Amino acid sequence: MQILFLSMLTIQAYYGRTVQPAADRTIYLTFDDGPGEGTPHVLDVLKQYGVRGTFFINGQNLDNGVTENEDYLLRTLNEGHVVADHSYNHMLHNNKKDTPR
Ligand SMILES: [Zn+2]
Repeated sequence: MQILFLSMLTIQAYYGRTVQPAADRTIYLTFDDGPGEGTPHVLDVLKQYGVRGTFFINGQNLDNGVTENEDYLLRTLNEGHVVADHSYNHMLHNNKKDTPR
């Protein structure tokens, strides 16, 4: 799987040595800021490899007039992935000034 391969290269570069994946370990794949035009492509790859992921969605993407996003969300759920909240519009929770304390 290309996504995992790239991650292993990143880990290898960081530690400066070869890192062997352990067979008894689990890698959790998460995807932020959807659903959007990239979602079906990610779903296609996950389906191809029989892998499930967690999709953190922004509510605004379901409220912006792009009706395909609702279909992408339903497909995500129907294919057994986990869907979690990533705020309504994302930017507010990244802005310290607007973050509730
Ligand atoms: Zn995000």
